[in-house]
Amino acid sequence: MPSFSLAHIIRLVLALYLVLATSVAEAYIGPGAGISFLQGVWVALVGIVLSVVAIVLLPFKLLIRNFGEVKAVLVLVGLGVLAWLVYEYQPQVIPEKVSGRTIVLGFDGMDPQLAQRWMKEGLMPNFTRLAESGSFQKLATTNPAQSPVAWSSFATGTGPGEHGVFDFLRRSTDTYVPDFSISDTQPTKYTVDLFGLKIPSDGGEIINRRIGEPFWMTAEKTGLNAVVLRVPVTYPPDPIYHMLSGMGVPDLLGSQGTYSIFTTERLESTENRRIKRVIPDQNGLVETALVGPDNPIAEGKALLQPFTVEPAPRGVQINISGKSFGLKEGQWSDWVGVDFDVLGPLHISGMLRFLLLQTYPVLKLYVSPIHIDPYDPAVPISSPPGFAADLADKIGLYHTIGMPEETWSLNEDQISDEDYLAVIRTTLAEREAMWYSALEAHNTELAVAVFVQTDRVSHMFYRGLDEEHPLHSQTGANVRGAVQWIYQEADRVLGETLRRMNPDDQLVVLSDHGFAPFRKAVHLNRWLAETGYLKFKPGQQDTDALFSGVDWAQTKAYALGLNGIFINQQGREPKGSVSIVETEALKAKITEQLVNAADPETGDSLVRRVFDRKDIYPGLANAEAPDLVVGYEKNYRASWQTTLGGTPQELVEANEQKWSGDHCIDPSLVPGVLFTSFPLSREVKNIQDIPDLILDLLEARIDD
Ligand SMILES: [Zn+2]
Repeated sequence: MPSFSLAHIIRLVLALYLVLATSVAEAYIGPGAGISFLQGVWVALVGIVLSVVAIVLLPFKLLIRNFGEVKAVLVLVGLGVLAWLVYEYQPQVIPEKVSGRTIVLGFDGMDPQLAQRWMKEGLMPNFTRLAESGSFQKLATTNPAQSPVAWSSFATGTGPGEHGVFDFLRRSTDTYVPDFSISDTQPTKYTVDLFGLKIPSDGGEIINRRIGEPFWMTAEKTGLNAVVLRVPVTYPPDPIYHMLSGMGVPDLLGSQGTYSIFTTERLESTENRRIKRVIPDQNGLVETALVGPDNPIAEGKALLQPFTVEPAPRGVQINISGKSFGLKEGQWSDWVGVDFDVLGPLHISGMLRFLLLQTYPVLKLYVSPIHIDPYDPAVPISSPPGFAADLADKIGLYHTIGMPEETWSLNEDQISDEDYLAVIRTTLAEREAMWYSALEAHNTELAVAVFVQTDRVSHMFYRGLDEEHPLHSQTGANVRGAVQWIYQEADRVLGETLRRMNPDDQLVVLSDHGFAPFRKAVHLNRWLAETGYLKFKPGQQDTDALFSGVDWAQTKAYALGLNGIFINQQGREPKGSVSIVETEALKAKITEQLVNAADPETGDSLVRRVFDRKDIYPGLANAEAPDLVVGYEKNYRASWQTTLGGTPQELVEANEQKWSGDHCIDPSLVPGVLFTSFPLSREVKNIQDIPDLILDLLEARIDD
């Protein structure tokens, strides 16, 4: 009987390699402007064609040639059984139980005064116990007191001047247009035209804009393992033992959460392009399509996901992506996986949830942002890449985008308070399941998780707590206590965490900042216009968002983001009008005037302090820092219009939106909290001191 020659074996191995290569070479598609094919469409296409040919023909040919037909089939069956046995009975590596762990639990936006109040009232017994047996203190936040800035300091132990994150938004240095600060997707450099398709020849690159080494990387360098779950500004993920990215992960459109609404109602305006009017046929059947990400190989064309809606008892029946399910009014659907077909086997996977806001005769159907699917992530959301899917195996599908709490849809009154709280309960349960599974695994020396629900509920329901908020009286009695409820939930999560700790584990609980009422919005660009620093184009009295009506040649300063003022500096801004020599004097003048600015209605001061970047941002990464950072007084905050460059007529406006609590004010007014399960033997003043504390705990552990 002829035996296999070396050449035969090489060819078999090659065929097997091609099979494997094809499954790996699935397109890794980045949403938004910079669609990136990390593995490359070329690899996929060539791999598919070659491997299909090779797989189908080569092994058969070889086997038949060497063994004859019957024996060849027997050999194939034997190989299959062998492969199955190897897969089924591979030795399971059971990790050793790690003891003496350092556990870090973050509650975004937990305020020391509120925590103290409810601890005193006996509503937060676990926090009280922790404070009594260990320590409790205020923890100073960053300047400005914003989550991406503060959690970047938490990670790196440095200030914004070194880690380079200064605000949710940053200015684009060539257009003045605000841009997202946390991550950046560099577009693919070259595309090749092929049969009218645009094929990207390389993968665009996704970068985390945070500079510096996070403490979990430092810990891993000393041979320890870390699990880090949903910490803000961890996208793309750091290459550690286990990480699931948090704030910064986009939806499938590349945005931070774009929802859609389908309604049979006539639309008053066509401004919001995600609200679509649909016309049912005589049976009520609606045939429509959800707009997905841009087609990565056909420029300017979006991929579509067709679906239908029809009347059903007490609700609707939805058919999408081969699935059919009923939905009642006020009900959120389970996760629905959707595939946007690109070409052949190339597709972009996502998942979404429906919420039936209103049923027939006037249909109103809400569709959540399209989330990255943990089983088939279009962008990297975990480390290692398979960790996101492992988590889904354990706890079921979960929200993946950075800020999944449907905050915008509530603020724009598209969904109700109850609908919103239903999402909060869901994301809270998901985070809890992940966190407890990480703690129960006992396989890392360091475990870190941030729960953001405390922040999101405080933002949206402070109006229930703050009797002087313009919306207080309109806030339903059933949701007035929502902030207290979420603090009690945090206490419950703490209790569950403590239950899963060994006596030699050490716990650090902290928040990134506190909270304050947001009763009035300050149109800071209007103030700059009134004081003559910002000028409009001839004949214009104002500008809409993105500064379209601004006369840059005459403009000396502009506000952008939640706390920043930028000097329109020559050589730096695209149409700069102020020389470097004039800049310092101009900053001093604006500061002097702004701290004296008063609320026209009450005479109250609007701004407590104005900070000069040269005083607060020592470091090498401060090129993008605002020239002045505005520390608003309590009750005030920059208006939403200001953050994007708009100038409504009034200087100060009552805040009639549900986003009613905030923290983007003078940082000394909104410190966070720090609790430890052990007495603190060192001074910890600021959130950027936390990495030193944690690394010392880990080091003490190694020395043991
Ligand atoms: Zn917040």
